This record gives sequence, structure tokens and C-alpha cells, in this order.
Amino acid sequence: MSEVAQQTQQEFWRPPSPVVADGIVVRETIPIIPAMAEACPRCSTEFLLGSRFCHTCGGRRPEALSPVAKADAAVMAGLWEQGVAHVYSFGAGLWSGQIWSKIKFPSWLRYLHFHEIQSWVGLSTGSLIAFVIGLGCVAGALLAGLLTAKTLVDWQAIQFYRAEWLLAATAAFVAGILLKKSSGD
Ligand SMILES: [Zn+2]
Repeated sequence: MSEVAQQTQQEFWRPPSPVVADGIVVRETIPIIPAMAEACPRCSTEFLLGSRFCHTCGGRRPEALSPVAKADAAVMAGLWEQGVAHVYSFGAGLWSGQIWSKIKFPSWLRYLHFHEIQSWVGLSTGSLIAFVIGLGCVAGALLAGLLTAKTLVDWQAIQFYRAEWLLAATAAFVAGILLKKSSGD
């Protein structure tokens, strides 16, 4: 036992137990010395050169990640950072409105733009809005025809419903005509 203690005194980074030392000897025949961890995972002390155990806490020195695994981890970290940067830049661009100028819409989508329709139909803004509302009311009147009536009261209610939709459409079209005249262009 005193021999063991003396051994630890001389080479404190060597394991005091001879059983573990044998295991180390066996392991040392395998050339894995460069693939050992740089610092102790328990106390984060740097390992001494060629040591198998931490000289501070006595923890076993683990094997470092293989170069391939380290490269994979680096690639994954890079991808993650890139993704985060993309998300941040996208959010910032969205916030400042720059992203909308970068997005390429299909060319035919410009025909759905309000001003394109406006120049195509030749109506003023108020007239076009009233026209669209009137078209919606006509569609509502047509959809009222899809309702099925089982009793006379139901049928009457549907007729009133349809008449109201058509009245709303008429009002919208009249409003469009008035807005066109008042805008004067
Ligand atoms: Zn340690």
C-alpha cells in the first residue's frame, strides 16, 4: 500500500490502483492518444500531456470526439447558426417591409392587383369598391336560391332574403354610379 502511495506521489496523474493501471497499459497499446479530451468534463481542468486521469478531481479522461464526429458537430452548429441568422434576417426584413420587394410573385398575379383592375375597368376607386360590393350582393342573392323551402313560410322568408340581397346590390351599384360622377375623372 505504501508502494502505491509512493507511486501516486511521483506520478500523480497516474491511477494509484494497479488494476486500473493494467487497463491503461492495455489501452495504451491502441494509438488513441490524440483522440482524448482536452479538458476534464467534471471540473474543466486541462489534462496534462499524456495523462489518463484528471489531476484535480481524479476523473477518468474521456475519449474526445472523433474527427468525423467533430466535423459533423461543427457542420450542424454552422447550419443551426445559419438558420437562426436567416430567421432573424427574415423577421427583420419582414418588419421593415424589404422582404416584399424581394419576393417574386408570378407575373399573372399583377392582374389581380386592385389598381390593375381599376385601370382595366376604368372606374374610380370608390366606384370600383361599390361595384365589387354589388357583385357580392348579387352572388348572395343567387346563393339564396340554393336554400330549399319545405313550408310556405320558409319559401316567403327565402324570397325576402333574396330581395334584400338584390336591394343591397342595387344600392351598391347606385352608390358606385354616384361616386363615379362625383369623382369626375
Ligand atoms: Zn477534473
